[in-house]
Amino acid sequence: CGIVGYVGSQSALDVVVEGLARLEYRGYDSAGTAVSSDGKLSVTKRAGKLVNLRDALAGTVPPGGDSGYGGGAPSHSGIGHTRWATHGPPNDRNAHPHTDCTGAVAVVHNGIIENFAALRGELERRGHEMSSDTDTEAVAHLLEEEVAKGAGLAEAMRRVCVRLEGAFTLVAVYSGEPDLVVGARRNSPLVVGVGDGENFLASDVAAFIAHTRDAIELGQDQIVELRPAGVSVTGFDGTPAEVKHYHVDWDVSA
Ligand code: GLU
Repeated sequence: CGIVGYVGSQSALDVVVEGLARLEYRGYDSAGTAVSSDGKLSVTKRAGKLVNLRDALAGTVPPGGDSGYGGGAPSHSGIGHTRWATHGPPNDRNAHPHTDCTGAVAVVHNGIIENFAALRGELERRGHEMSSDTDTEAVAHLLEEEVAKGAGLAEAMRRVCVRLEGAFTLVAVYSGEPDLVVGARRNSPLVVGVGDGENFLASDVAAFIAHTRDAIELGQDQIVELRPAGVSVTGFDGTPAEVKHYHVDWDVSA
């Protein structure tokens, strides 16, 4: 339903949770975050309103800690999701982000992966254990396999996306590349917010216009690599894509 991603010098967790709050108007049944720090991902997800997620975050100290959620040094990259369930009931297990068997990759997803049953079957035959009922989780395990073969997260995402059918926005982080957030889209929106030494990703500009009004709308079947210093966009085939900036000039009251 709603997606937020962030890389930069602010606390990623704070920016992501604030972004999710700005997307609350869309309606959702669960929410979750994954932040990267000290070579590890910290994933927290809860069914119900954002307050449940905030309570859960307040009770944990993510690796390195996060301002507002336990003190200490904040994480600098992260992703978040508000879910509107299509595959699997709204509970903690099925809330996003979804992770692979090793916990090294976390992914959030809007939309539906139409061929998920075939992909899950294939993954289970190769020894992967699923821990949710969602269509989304297959993507986490497919990314894990590509990363294990030596691909970076962006290349892994390109290889996985060409195998997916349906409509999707996917945003992922990988513990091996802590300064990177990767997004992909087909028939589902994803917008980049361009900052100074920081960058944002969201399903809707409302999530980041408190931080920047410089935006890039991703085209069909494109992948974006988000790092603190910049943004690069390619097609699913790896061909570099032209990026068109636009200024978000509408007002928000909240
Ligand atoms: N199909 C996914 C699920 O049911 C994503 C739903 C959404 O767009 O929030 O978990």
